[in-house]
Amino acid sequence: MKIPVRQCAACRGRFEKRELLRIVRTPDGRIVPDEKGKTPGRGVYICRKEECLNKALRQNALSRALEAPVPPDTEETLRRIITEGNDG
Ligand SMILES: [Zn+2]
Repeated sequence: MKIPVRQCAACRGRFEKRELLRIVRTPDGRIVPDEKGKTPGRGVYICRKEECLNKALRQNALSRALEAPVPPDTEETLRRIITEGNDG
């Protein structure tokens, strides 16, 4: 059985989807974390590590991948999800 893997936008490593956090630009233009992996829209993946979140934000990797700026409150939400290790 093939395990689905995705690439982290920060460290460029490839990991199983469940090890990553998906962030989505929804069709109505919001940037939201996608804890269940089911939100429709353009998505980008990062490791569930503060290191990778910081790197992605520093390099604007998320906003580039999503073709939209990441609002500060979304950054805070992502940070909270990652630092709390909450994977749904
Ligand atoms: Zn990473």
